[in-house]
Amino acid sequence: MKAITVEPKKPGSARLEEVPEPDIQNGSVLVEAVAVGVCGTDVEIAEGKYGWAPPDKTRLVLGHESLGRVLDPGPRSGLKKGDLVVGIVRRPDPVPCPNCAVGEWDMCRNGQYTERGIKQIDGYMSERWRIEPEYAIKVDPTLGILGVLLEPTTVVTKAWEHILAVGQRAFWEPKTVLVTGAGPIGLLGALIGIQLGMEVHVLARTKAGLQPELVRAIGATYHSCRVAEVGFEPDVILECTGVGQVIAESILVIGASGVVCLAGVGHGGAVPQIPTANMASSAVLKNNVIFGSVNANKRHWYKAGEALARADRSWLARLITRRESPEDFAKALVRGAEDIKVVIQFASI
Ligand SMILES: [Zn+2]
Repeated sequence: MKAITVEPKKPGSARLEEVPEPDIQNGSVLVEAVAVGVCGTDVEIAEGKYGWAPPDKTRLVLGHESLGRVLDPGPRSGLKKGDLVVGIVRRPDPVPCPNCAVGEWDMCRNGQYTERGIKQIDGYMSERWRIEPEYAIKVDPTLGILGVLLEPTTVVTKAWEHILAVGQRAFWEPKTVLVTGAGPIGLLGALIGIQLGMEVHVLARTKAGLQPELVRAIGATYHSCRVAEVGFEPDVILECTGVGQVIAESILVIGASGVVCLAGVGHGGAVPQIPTANMASSAVLKNNVIFGSVNANKRHWYKAGEALARADRSWLARLITRRESPEDFAKALVRGAEDIKVVIQFASI
């Protein structure tokens, strides 16, 4: 079968190639790939900046934002042939740490977790893949190809769960949320905010086009100014850019007793113009919590599936701005100015 593979840490090594059928050791459920979403992590792996091959191999099958159709449910999976499923990305570490031991592998304490398509387990960019029944999430069949948005939705589902949990340390009635960034994570984070009944604001650089249209279409307000100029003090900030200046200004504008959730992963950049102690003083004097959030556990995968099933299909469909064939995977790894989510489509649906 065909698969998109990469030799991790070797820039430009990604290729479409023939590989053996999926190993039964990867699970008793056999799935036909329908589509795989591409995100910044895939681009980083293809550029040789990240990623680990399975222990006995030099190459890794790429892809962690899956959507597939069950070919063979195997024994005791509860699935049927033809069901649409998405594969969970992370697997608990083998020790296991206390968090992995209770199923909260998203909070792994020792970093020895593994991840499909990223860290030591083959991913989902192959014509067929196998999965353990307990890591296969059945998606609402009416979502169709939109099920490929489940993985990014799990990330913001977890972030929102933690935002609300952190807020419960004191009496708290959050009403306003500022989401920084209008990529897939920012837009899906805004969608969950709307579903929670919040007044949602989204801030991004683009002045016009699809991003502002999508923000307004869910009843949120779009801003293309600096965070410091947004004109209100949000109860919640969901930071999805990873940009130093945006993070620093978020910590300054967050309202009293508000919560800043950092969900963007950035690197380097200009030295922030706001001294660290000034940011800290602002947080102290306003009782703020600033915390990071990554990945998701099975509870979040379930809740994200529910959130997608409730969402407007035509709005979700506009998030998928481009579909490429496996042969054109290299085009999918380049993000265009108007792209939100690019997917590689393996089979029709
Ligand atoms: Zn662990």
